[in-house]
Amino acid sequence: MTTTKRCYYEILEVTKTASAEEIKKAYRKKAIQYHPDKNPGDKKAEEKFKEAAEAYEVLSNEGKRSRYDRFGHAGVGGASGGYGGGGMTMEDIFSHFGDIFGESFGGSFTGGFSSYRGFDAGNSRTVNRGTDLRVKVRLTLKEIAAGVEKKIKVKKYVSCSQCKGSGAEDDKAFATCPTCKGRGQVIHTVSTILGKMQTASVCPSCYGEGRTITKKCPHCHGEGVRLDEEVISINIPAGVAEGMQLSMNGRGNAARHGGINGDLLIVIEEEMHPELIRDQQDIIYNLLLTFPQAAMGTTVEVPTLDGKAKIKIEPGTQPGKLLRLKNKGLPSINRYGTGDLLINIAVYIPENLTKEQQVVLSDMDSSSNFQPSTSTKERIFAKFRSEFE
Ligand SMILES: [Zn+2]
Ligand SMILES: [Zn+2]
Repeated sequence: MTTTKRCYYEILEVTKTASAEEIKKAYRKKAIQYHPDKNPGDKKAEEKFKEAAEAYEVLSNEGKRSRYDRFGHAGVGGASGGYGGGGMTMEDIFSHFGDIFGESFGGSFTGGFSSYRGFDAGNSRTVNRGTDLRVKVRLTLKEIAAGVEKKIKVKKYVSCSQCKGSGAEDDKAFATCPTCKGRGQVIHTVSTILGKMQTASVCPSCYGEGRTITKKCPHCHGEGVRLDEEVISINIPAGVAEGMQLSMNGRGNAARHGGINGDLLIVIEEEMHPELIRDQQDIIYNLLLTFPQAAMGTTVEVPTLDGKAKIKIEPGTQPGKLLRLKNKGLPSINRYGTGDLLINIAVYIPENLTKEQQVVLSDMDSSSNFQPSTSTKERIFAKFRSEFE
């Protein structure tokens, strides 16, 4: 480095005790004044523009500034990953200090930036997205019938509160990524039979972020996220079914170094009811009557999703009869229509009989009303036959 270089503080016209904010403001002023879009073809303005950028590059970095204060230009020459030392290109400046221009030029100058658009950090840097989180929630039929609020403990990555997700110790603990010069992408040139082709891919050094951390946040070790436990309350609508997946946007893992959170995916699992069987929106209950109950009629209690229900069994109820309790099934997840509770009736025939019972039963069997007529037979088997037609 030559000693003929101007003092960085002089270039930006700030005092040696200027704050970071004052330096930033001063640089922005110079950058606007000497911006190539305002001074087309003016080599002198371009030199001033570069000079100001170099001064800002050093003075905006705590470490470099203190080295500069102690050793002058020699303290920072060539020690900044390709910048410093007077070797900054226009592209370097735009990629490195893109945020300065973004703020100060707003919409008024953006048209003039076309030649540097490829280096506009905002266009090519990757936005991180946290991964989705999948949790299983086990529900009883009763909970499915009414809908339920479940509180579940989820282990997930949350944004680090210390560094607000940046992963850096402070605002200045960043450097432009040396691999991609802050673009977030690397360009590969491949020779093909059609000529040279260029492809861009995410920078492997900074994962598309365009910058690297020089001093990591001690709280999260530079990740910007840390593992934590969160109790999340989930409102599960009525009518869900086994295998369904609900999604809560943005409640998954936080992204490394800031960005968009992943989603929380809730997979529904159904707990078997000891007595009730689900058939889509309907609920089936198998009712086993004794032979006398079916013959004489009775009143029985059956389980439903909300307590017990008393139902009347008519005398002469045949096995295979289906009773229907309207709207005692499950609601539709789409909020229209409710299923029924179907009571499937079977009749238990005793498997062992005493001598006395055998006598009584054979007496009964000889009675005419124990013998089904042809029309009775037809009536009872009509339903069975209809299933084959
Ligand atoms: Zn942190
Ligand atoms: Zn990079």
